[in-house]
Amino acid sequence: MPEADDPRSEAERIEAGRLFFARAWRFVAGAARAADLPGTEAIEVAFAGRSNVGKSSLLNALTGRQALARTSNTPGRTRELNLFSADAGVAIVDMPGYGYARAPKREVAAWTRTVFDYLRGAPRLRRVYVLVDARHGLKPNDAEALDTLDRAAVSYQIVLTKADKVTAAALPEVIAATTGQIAKRPAAHPQVLATSSTTGAGIAELRAEIAGMASPAHTEG
Ligand code: GDP
Repeated sequence: MPEADDPRSEAERIEAGRLFFARAWRFVAGAARAADLPGTEAIEVAFAGRSNVGKSSLLNALTGRQALARTSNTPGRTRELNLFSADAGVAIVDMPGYGYARAPKREVAAWTRTVFDYLRGAPRLRRVYVLVDARHGLKPNDAEALDTLDRAAVSYQIVLTKADKVTAAALPEVIAATTGQIAKRPAAHPQVLATSSTTGAGIAELRAEIAGMASPAHTEG
């Protein structure tokens, strides 16, 4: 959704997003503790979601780099915070996936600790995109993750993934239901986005949103 004070047309925003993600995005570092991540740019956006929600695919689709986020899906890296950069004024943080079937309690606790530590020590973090499978909607462990974000008072937005897997008629219903479920959450952005890494639906809009968070000096460069 365009910011109220953004004077640019929708086409200009989309083009700025395309240029922003046409840069050479690269994996910078992974770390289990937020304190071990190197500091980079002025602003960060983060991506979170249940394992298998399509987070790597979405990061690859955004950056046009097929193997970029594979790194973060390799064993050993899946529990880490992974940092991507294109020296563009906005760094991307890929948060560890949550919600493994029958995950032991200590694993859930470890996820919460990693993420909460990161959130607490991330003054440059502008928004967390919480990915939710369009076929399933919000699950109890998504709700727990949103609780953590609400507690940390970090702005977050729901992004539905795999929108190609639901019919054109069902998608607005999923969006409406999800919008209703987050309406009372204090840190939730009211707009629910829908994307498909397979068809590319919603990717240009998400690129434009993220690029719009960069400082004007970077977006116009
Ligand atoms: P991650 O564990 O969240 O990083 O999920 P992945 O990106 O590895 O994707 C999990 C599975 O979902 C893979 O089999 C992908 O091919 C599939 N997938 C991811 N995005 C989409 C999408 O937009 N549409 C469809 N149909 N499948 C997808």
